[in-house]
Amino acid sequence: MVGPGSSLGDLDGKVALVTGAGSGIGYAIAERFAREGAAVAINYLDRGDEAQALARDLAAAGGKATALEADVSDAVAVTSLVAKIVERFGRLDVLVNNAGIEKSQPLLEIDESSWDRTLAVNLKGPFLCLQTVARQMKESGGGSIVNISSIHEDFPFPGYTPYAAAKGGLRMLMRNAALELAPLGIRVNNIAPGAIATPINAATLADPRKVQRLQEIVPLGRMGKPEQVAEVALFLASRRSSYVTGSTYYVDGGIIRYAEPL
Ligand code: NAP
Repeated sequence: MVGPGSSLGDLDGKVALVTGAGSGIGYAIAERFAREGAAVAINYLDRGDEAQALARDLAAAGGKATALEADVSDAVAVTSLVAKIVERFGRLDVLVNNAGIEKSQPLLEIDESSWDRTLAVNLKGPFLCLQTVARQMKESGGGSIVNISSIHEDFPFPGYTPYAAAKGGLRMLMRNAALELAPLGIRVNNIAPGAIATPINAATLADPRKVQRLQEIVPLGRMGKPEQVAEVALFLASRRSSYVTGSTYYVDGGIIRYAEPL
């Protein structure tokens, strides 16, 4: 029986870049794509050991993978990253803009540097990667770009205004790019995760009251796993979604629809 996690070679012969793939959601996506036959470029910034170990594990399992350092908010670094991937694997068919950061600060206390850094990594980074990769995809006849945004591309997030502003921007970046790139055969979609158990949520995971509260307000009654986001990323990256562009897919256990009865 074919079930979640089973492999059908959906990405055989494809080359994929996953940004921020040394941990969490990006790590799970890189693993899943490699299992489906893709050659995977595992981008990282600080987690070099984890990214290199993942590349070694995927290669040992018969896959093709390479770990590459780059700060996605740096245009020169992104150009060099994409050039290295094309040099190594010959082409690029799939981009997953996954790298992201968040910092809790009340609106009246946000300092300029944390605003700038959050917008640089979470919005400028996906733009730079999308533009650089799309130029490459134009040469090879198309591809699929998946941005990992957040339910906060739409749903307010008090205490995290730069993060929500960046993810809201990523929603419109996706929609514009989907229109401009469609004639080139490039599809662009977002995944909006809800509460997924990853290092970015370390503080929440360490607080049983917050975990309990999440379980109460998520209609499916639990936090999500990175692998559950990876399944939707696989769908959007593969030919199975060949008529899908300009959409956001929520992977959130229904939290975006949460409402209390009167
Ligand atoms: P995570 O484990 O903290 O992963 C974030 C990754 O981003 C890290 O591997 C980090 O790499 C990378 N990164 C940060 N700045 C970077 C930069 N300048 N250049 C390259 N890579 C950079 O958390 P996660 O939950 O998997 O987050 C992945 C994405 O999902 C983020 O965009 C996040 O906003 C989104 N998301 C997560 C949730 C959730 O509940 N977990 C919900 C909604 C959306 P290094 O460690 O190597 O620096």
